[in-house]
Amino acid sequence: MSDCIFCKIANGEIPSDFVYEDENVAAFRDVNPQAPVHILVIPKKHIASSAAVDDSSVWSSLMGSAVKIARELGLEADGYRMVINTGEQGGQSVPHLHLHLLAGRNLGWPPG
Ligand code: AMP
Repeated sequence: MSDCIFCKIANGEIPSDFVYEDENVAAFRDVNPQAPVHILVIPKKHIASSAAVDDSSVWSSLMGSAVKIARELGLEADGYRMVINTGEQGGQSVPHLHLHLLAGRNLGWPPG
């Protein structure tokens, strides 16, 4: 989508700190990290939110990529968290589906 910031990152129009890319998925570091490791994993295709996913292969590529990145960065030793915010009360601020991969500190539970 032409005015979507994450579409622009995925297609290279806006530079970003990429950590992973394949045919379906891009992953880059969050500009406002909430943990020492904070990576966003997105589908390259524009999907507004988790509520708009109608093809289960989106989940396998998104979560599969996140687990692969976590493994490559050695995050499983101390643990990590995957979060998908959806809609206003879910805390979603960018209307392009994204998975947060967070690690590097004790993240605590429950979330605020
Ligand atoms: P959410 O609140 O779940 O929609 O998360 C959106 C995330 O995108 C936030 O953590 C922002 O810090 C992050 N973000 C916004 N713009 C950019 C950008 N240009 N590059 C990297 N991360 C971004």
